[in-house]
Amino acid sequence: MTDTQKSAIVTGSSSGIGKGIAEGLAQNGINVMLNGIESPEEVEPLRARLEKDYGVKVLYSPANMMKPEEIRQLYADAEAAFGQVDVIVNNAGIQHVAPIEEFPEAKWDAIMAINLSSAFHLTKAAIPDMVERGWGRVINLASAHGLAASPYKSAYVAAKHGMLGLTKTVALEVAEKGVTVNAIAPGYVLTPLVEKQIPDTAKARGITEEEVKRDVILSAQPTKEFVTTEQLAGVAMFLISDAAAAVTGTTISVDGGWTAK
Ligand code: NAD
Repeated sequence: MTDTQKSAIVTGSSSGIGKGIAEGLAQNGINVMLNGIESPEEVEPLRARLEKDYGVKVLYSPANMMKPEEIRQLYADAEAAFGQVDVIVNNAGIQHVAPIEEFPEAKWDAIMAINLSSAFHLTKAAIPDMVERGWGRVINLASAHGLAASPYKSAYVAAKHGMLGLTKTVALEVAEKGVTVNAIAPGYVLTPLVEKQIPDTAKARGITEEEVKRDVILSAQPTKEFVTTEQLAGVAMFLISDAAAAVTGTTISVDGGWTAK
């Protein structure tokens, strides 16, 4: 990273992993455009705290990641406010757990739009300016479910596998331009996204919620521990650093050994 102050957009950063990564970036002197479905009033305490604690500019946009025109506007707003956008973190995502024959079509469409297509739209908006400046970082939040499947998560697993394909393709397209494109593939992180799927997984598998946590979630991770948002922020900062200039088109698993099995 050069000495000039960098700016980033982190989609889905009003909560969970995106919030943790946004804080990690702010802590390292990077201006951040936060994003999420919450109202600006709901996110104001977080926005104000990051700005105060780290002395960087922090803004919030409630752009809906299901709407390409709002994603393009998100990019335009960040560029106007910061002067340039050096880093994008495509993180927004939702989950739905159900057997394929019961999987609601609207949920399939929403997961594809938010978890995969939004990354396409934001990357498409950001890449020309990054290429022109000869520096940029695209970080896509995939998942262990980008590398391996679990039953009842057809849309999520398909979208996350797609995210890895998008990552590799764009990385090749801009490989000579000083822009890297990588994916982070976390295992289970105890965020609202995971907490919300526990009752549905219990129902789909016919077991209790406690059994879901023990026998489904943490049994997938050899470390038997949840991954933390701070650990993921650390990996994102590595990918932004000069040390990672030759790291592109790849996936960094942060999954407690899940995909080693
Ligand atoms: P979360 O539910 O805590 O946060 C999701 C974020 O996405 C929120 O900020 C929410 O406002 C935003 N969002 C949802 N719909 C949106 C929309 N239509 N437009 C704009 N923003 C929207 O989830 P999380 O667990 O922090 O997940 C973040 C990312 O990490 C997702 O892509 C998820 O698939 C991935 N991931 C999570 C885990 C995990 O165990 N939690 C594991 C691997 C990958």
